[in-house]
Amino acid sequence: MTTTQSDNKKAQRLARDLKRKGIKDERVLAAIAQIPRERFIDEELAEYAYLDRPLPIEKGQTISQPYTVAYQSQLLGLKPGEKVLEVGTGSGYQAAVLCEMEADVYSIERYQQLYLSAKETLNSLGYHPHLFHGDGFEGLPEHAPFDKILLTAAPVEVPKKLLQQLRIGGWLVGPLGGRMGQKMTIITRVSEEEFRESEHGDFIFVPMQKGIAMLTTKNCR
Ligand code: SAH
Repeated sequence: MTTTQSDNKKAQRLARDLKRKGIKDERVLAAIAQIPRERFIDEELAEYAYLDRPLPIEKGQTISQPYTVAYQSQLLGLKPGEKVLEVGTGSGYQAAVLCEMEADVYSIERYQQLYLSAKETLNSLGYHPHLFHGDGFEGLPEHAPFDKILLTAAPVEVPKKLLQQLRIGGWLVGPLGGRMGQKMTIITRVSEEEFRESEHGDFIFVPMQKGIAMLTTKNCR
């Protein structure tokens, strides 16, 4: 399937919609305008792809609402070439936005099935971020330090191991709080042991869960 001109127009319209809603970072808006969001969801949901709505993906997970993707991307304040770790690859859409912003993207997903399908989608669109099937609570110590870390699922507690994988001066953007709703939070690593927090509005995300889940196959027994 190739991206048609009209899909591209829809992505451009979505970017304009997000600008009206307050997204100011032109690099974020340009990325949204480029990406065929319908490729990251089930074909049956294609008609909703460019509405500013979260949508279901496999394994009971969701592709975040475009406004949330844009808002988090804006809070990351990415400079080209910066190394960013995304926790929760999901559909791969957010990773595509980060790739369009010329970041060096690492993304980790606990469901093997989502990891595999995100990889296929991203590669078919010409995006080649570093993708991993693993537990985001552990992060990727072998690839640390990261300039920025982005959580796209909500942990009950701040994942301490992730904070240790930030470079000094770098920051984590993520939804923190209980299961019922979270505050978008920025945690900046000010020095080796010192961190500073600020809050940026209310959101609701799917929970960040411990451990990994393997591909399930339907075997005849
Ligand atoms: N960024 C995604 C949003 C996916 S929703 C997108 O653009 O589509 C959040 C994702 O986080 C889900 O796919 C969920 O499986 C994943 N997740 C939850 N806990 C995790 C963990 N501990 N490690 C890695 N991924 C996790």
